[in-house]
Amino acid sequence: MERSVLVSVHEGLHARPATQFVKLAKSFASDIEIECNGRKASAKSAVKLMLLGVKENDEATLRIDGEDAAEALSALVTFLQTPGAGDIDLKAMTSAPTSPSSRAAMPAPARGPGERPSGIAASEGTALGPVFAFFPPALDIDPAPVAAGGIEAEITRYRTALDETTGALAANKRRDGVKADDAAIIDALIDVARDDDFTAGVEAKIRSGQNAAMAVDAVGKELSASFEAMEDPYIRARAEDLRSVARQLVLTLIGRKDVTLAEMPIGAIVVADEITAWDLAKAKLSNIAGIVCRKGAATSHIAIMARAHAIPAVLGAPFNEAALKGAKTAALDGARGDVVLDPDAATAERFSTAIAREAEERAALASYRTIEPATKDGRRIEVAANLGSLAEIDKALEAGAMGVGLFRTEFLFMERKVLPSEAEQTEVYTRLAKAFAPHPVVIRTLDIGGDKPIAGVEFEHEDNPFLGWRGVRMCLERTDIFKPQLRALLKASIVGNLKILLPMIADASEVAKVRALLDECADELAAETVPMGAYELGVMIETPAAVFLADELAASVDFFSIGTNDLTQYVMAADRLNPKVADLNRTEHPAVKAAIAKAAKAAVDAGIWIGVCGEAAARLDLIPFFLENGVSELSMSSASIPRAKKRVTEC
Ligand code: PEP
Ligand code: MG
Repeated sequence: MERSVLVSVHEGLHARPATQFVKLAKSFASDIEIECNGRKASAKSAVKLMLLGVKENDEATLRIDGEDAAEALSALVTFLQTPGAGDIDLKAMTSAPTSPSSRAAMPAPARGPGERPSGIAASEGTALGPVFAFFPPALDIDPAPVAAGGIEAEITRYRTALDETTGALAANKRRDGVKADDAAIIDALIDVARDDDFTAGVEAKIRSGQNAAMAVDAVGKELSASFEAMEDPYIRARAEDLRSVARQLVLTLIGRKDVTLAEMPIGAIVVADEITAWDLAKAKLSNIAGIVCRKGAATSHIAIMARAHAIPAVLGAPFNEAALKGAKTAALDGARGDVVLDPDAATAERFSTAIAREAEERAALASYRTIEPATKDGRRIEVAANLGSLAEIDKALEAGAMGVGLFRTEFLFMERKVLPSEAEQTEVYTRLAKAFAPHPVVIRTLDIGGDKPIAGVEFEHEDNPFLGWRGVRMCLERTDIFKPQLRALLKASIVGNLKILLPMIADASEVAKVRALLDECADELAAETVPMGAYELGVMIETPAAVFLADELAASVDFFSIGTNDLTQYVMAADRLNPKVADLNRTEHPAVKAAIAKAAKAAVDAGIWIGVCGEAAARLDLIPFFLENGVSELSMSSASIPRAKKRVTEC
């Protein structure tokens, strides 16, 4: 079986999406080959797959041969066509330092005379402190060859070392305080260590007579050089993972312990040639005031982890090793990429002032965690979280989410061979509702179409899937899929805070049809003596038709939620995924603002509440506009919640 697809995965198949794609491929028995940019690889090797350099908008061809080829093709095509597939928060974190809102909220200190940016701005924030020089020594590996009779024993020794090393990594993941995102990075390292290609390469070298440590070192160097030669910065940054995994394996094989960051003094600035995710996983992160490395890029795992833990970091710093090792103190500005070694008194004073100001800003934002913000004229605004899975609940609660404004249920349906059962859905929706009670939890019914298909639904080819058989249109025809979801939602309504949101509404008759189905499901459940509670029903305002019909729709539902992502693309006729029309795809465009104002007026006039759940809900420049128009709920990714709450109080 063969099929070509346009890859929609954000940023392409870099580390996390590649390992998840491989995991999915490995769940099928068939042989699976992927071809892209004129080169082919097995879809079951993460290393080979990453080296193919599959980017977003590339055409990839899948060739699948075996008994479960049809299921494999459907699942893998779905994955490749899903923008957020395998993305976790890697991308969100990667874009954090350059997002206008975050930069705006953390002004960096003015540069001193003659100061130049000295490296890559990898994680915003200012730091000043004593230097902790972290330069693990080079490994001197005994080159002694293995005798022919000892080869099998040497391979066994390698496999044992592999188990020990990945076991130690996994144990690190389970330590207290390890966040989900760090755990995902550690998983990526384990995936690299366990990659079939890595192992095959090492075992081939052992068979040719090299000892295991020499073989691991050589394969690590070869593969990391291949990664470094790649054009895509995300893929290039994976060379670091290879080096780190190879070093740990070699250390295990030669029975040595590494220098670690575990004993770092509080408040120090680590300066290093390179710090890997492995090194950082061992450190007490709250002890680290800042990071300066000669190697690394904004997309390195170290940069991602630094941002996740709000540690200021400058990578690619152009100092020689001796200068870094010789420095006693360092000052850095992670938003600018500036590093000053052994700063003079005036420079140190300037950084100290900036650090104090940042601490005040952070403290002020932290206090918003528990605040339920109101505008200056006393209107209470709900600042809620957009979620796609239960795994994101803790992060949302930590950030101070006042409920969930959008739970995208499609992630429950995608990347799997069979649809989630009614029981599974009931469990998920109930747990979600309970986690945030008494705050509201808005769950959106399945919003899926030909661009992100699911197993069990035959989507015919559509030239314009964004204008096609999707969302509520598909659900109303496939009641075998829709009714179990509605029944699960009704069962979860017993918690008392549930709101059901319908996507892609373009006509009031669609709402009437869903209501009829909900009534039918409620009758069935009542006959089965299943308890239910009250719930609200709302619609996404994301099509121009819904804007024009807003008065009529407002009369038939309990709330509106504006999907600015789709509303912008449909009002402006500018594909939200096409960078060529990004200039038109702007929510602040007067045409989009007029549409939002019209829908909001209809809601206010009808006395129903209106929220915003598209990306624009977190935009500090647009929040005043939303609130002026009567919006009372803003829903966004968890990281944006504290700043949005603060912004609300300024309006
Ligand atoms: C939107 O369109 O703004 C929205 C929130 O939905 P999605 O991004 O899932 O299409
Ligand atoms: Mg949408």
